[in-house]
Parts: sequence; C-alpha cells; structure tokens
Amino acid sequence: MSFEISKWYNNYQAPTVLMIDDLSDAYIDKYPQSYKNDWGYLCEAEGSAYDFLKKNLLKKFPDIKITFFVPYLKHNVIHDHTKEDYKKFDVGEREAFINFLRQLETYGHEIAHHGSNHGEYINKDNLSTVNNFKHEWELFDNSKQGVETTVKGMEIFKKYLKNPIKGGKFCGYKQRENSLEIIDRSQLHYWCDDVNFNHKNYDYTLFGENKVISFPTNFAGNAFVRLSYITGNEKKDRQKKMTQYLQPIYNVLQYKNLNKLYKHGYIISIQEHISPSTSSGMVQSTNIITDIDSLNRIYDFLSSKSIWYATCQEIAHYIYTKDNSSLTFYANHLIIYFNNHKKLSNTMLSICSDREFTLSSKTETRVAETNNNQFVVNIDVQHGKNEFMVNKG
Ligand SMILES: [Zn+2]
Repeated sequence: MSFEISKWYNNYQAPTVLMIDDLSDAYIDKYPQSYKNDWGYLCEAEGSAYDFLKKNLLKKFPDIKITFFVPYLKHNVIHDHTKEDYKKFDVGEREAFINFLRQLETYGHEIAHHGSNHGEYINKDNLSTVNNFKHEWELFDNSKQGVETTVKGMEIFKKYLKNPIKGGKFCGYKQRENSLEIIDRSQLHYWCDDVNFNHKNYDYTLFGENKVISFPTNFAGNAFVRLSYITGNEKKDRQKKMTQYLQPIYNVLQYKNLNKLYKHGYIISIQEHISPSTSSGMVQSTNIITDIDSLNRIYDFLSSKSIWYATCQEIAHYIYTKDNSSLTFYANHLIIYFNNHKKLSNTMLSICSDREFTLSSKTETRVAETNNNQFVVNIDVQHGKNEFMVNKG
C-alpha cells in the first residue's frame, strides 16, 4: 500500500474562497435600496448588504466561506465632505458592528486585515479614486511606521474577535519597495499581494524571512456580467454598449478559466467588494450586488465539482501544515513528522490512498472514506512525530 498527503483538505480537487473587500462600519446614501448603500453599517438587519447576500447567494449555496477584508479605521475612500449623505465609524466605535463581525466568525467566515483607513485622496476636492488615491501601503515611507500601523490593526481585532488575524490584503493591491517587508515583519501568515485574472500558472508562492504565503487573487466575481453592466463612467459605459453582445462568448472563456483552475487544483479565489455605492456616484467595480447573477453562475458551476469551501486562513493553514510535514510508511506504521515552527493551531492533514484502510492512533481508529476517487482520512497533527497504525480496510 502507498499513502500520500492530499494536496487539499479531505482530498478535494481544489479549494475556493469568496473574498469581499472593504466591509466597514459605513453607509453611503445614493440609492433608494438600502442594501446597495450599505458597506456594513446595517450589519445583518433586513435590507443590509449581508442580508442581500444571504437571500440571493448563501441560501442556495450554504457551504460558501467568505474572507472579509476590513479596514480598522474610518474608510477614507468614503469622502469626508460629500454633504451629509454618508456615515462611517472606526472598528470598536459601535458595539453593533463588533457583534456583527463576531457573528460572521460564528458562521465560519473570516475577518482579515485591510489596513487602517485604506489611504488618502491626492486632490481632496476630487471625488474620484481613479489616479487620485494613494493606497495605504504606498504611503509608508519607512518599514517601522508600516509595521506599527499593521500590527495595531491585529491588536485591535484581537480585542474583539475570537480568531486572531492571520492575513490580509494590500489596499487596491498597491505596494512599494518596503511593503512585503512590512507584512513579513508583522508576523502575518498569508497575504494577498497581487491580482492576476489571467490564469497563467497561478498557484501560491512564498515570500520573506517568515515564508509568508502569497495568496492568489485569480477570479473576478463579475466575470459573467462584466461586459453588460452600467458603471456610471461615461467612457466605459459607451464601450459597454458596444461590447455587451459579446458577453455570451466571453462567458465561454470564463467557464474555461474556472475549469482550468479547478483541473490544476489551484486555489479559486473569487474577488468582490461589498457595495456598489461610492462617494463619486460611480458603481464600484466588482461588488456583490451588481455581480449577483455572475456569482450564482460561478457557484452553480463549482457546486457539481469536488470543491473545498474554505476561508483564506483555513487554506493557508493547510498549505503550511502540508509543506512542513513529511510522511513515511513501513511495516504498518505511518509516521508524520510535522515542524510547526510558527506554532499554529488547528493544523489538519488529509492522508489518502487508492486502497481502503483504517488509521489508528493511541486513542481512536478512523475508517477512510472515499472522496475525489481516493480513500481519505483527515487528522489533527501536532509538532514533532505523529504515529499511526494502518490496517487494510
Ligand atoms: Zn479595499
């Protein structure tokens, strides 16, 4: 018999995560429908953005796991002098919002780092962010200042949340020469540092002294509506009037891209923002409201496949555990050496074989179950030697 450590948990073919950016305790009053204006301020109430997502996506696909990227101060993309039509608060200012974040954790979702206030406008009288916004990690002149600001966010969330922050995302995916060093020195475990929708060989890589996982962003949530929806940008919308008829052809390509990620067993990370509502009045590109039909198409496709629905953090934990483990098997003894130098908790591995087997530790015996054409057992592994007895099924 031979055994392997599965590439992904429970031997699933590929993991998927829905990434939602810019969840904030904020609201911009632009549309008659409250769920379009809501950046998180309405929490879970009827008419909130999350309520919309629940009713229009999560009800049909309850396995979906979401990583929410949450700035910890008032969101600066929401312009301070846009009349009286907005609300915004720091994390911790309103108990209702803290309770909402905690509730999201209990649903199995993740709260991740997304900077303090996201950055600042260059020309403060201009409401557009296009070429007029410096994103947070572009603004750190020295690493020390960047590390302090980043670690402060981790500490604030630690005060309120059950799960410590383990990763996050550069605001606007923008960085400069010291940005990766800041993430590395802040002892973060994974980071979304780059966006790549081109589906070249895109798997995770590692960076820095602490081998931080560079987590891919490789699929746009709006893929299946991209050529048809109105953005409020005149030039773009004029182009869309001409290209909208190409959407069905474009869709064929999108299914192909999804399938490619799946077949290779790459992480399928679906990129979204929480709200279409912006200070400039333009529709935020990729948002869960405008893209809801596209999201339904994506999950319709994935739901018939061997998919591990997980948060970024769960995926990053599995990668780390697998990359720091080795497996040997002789005379019915299966031994896994795991070097948990980062002292992570919840370290799981999946052991698979093409033959039936049972796996016994000192305390219990587990029967392998079939998944994705293999027999598989999921186990907790601890730092050092993990020893099991194997019996044929
Ligand atoms: Zn953002």
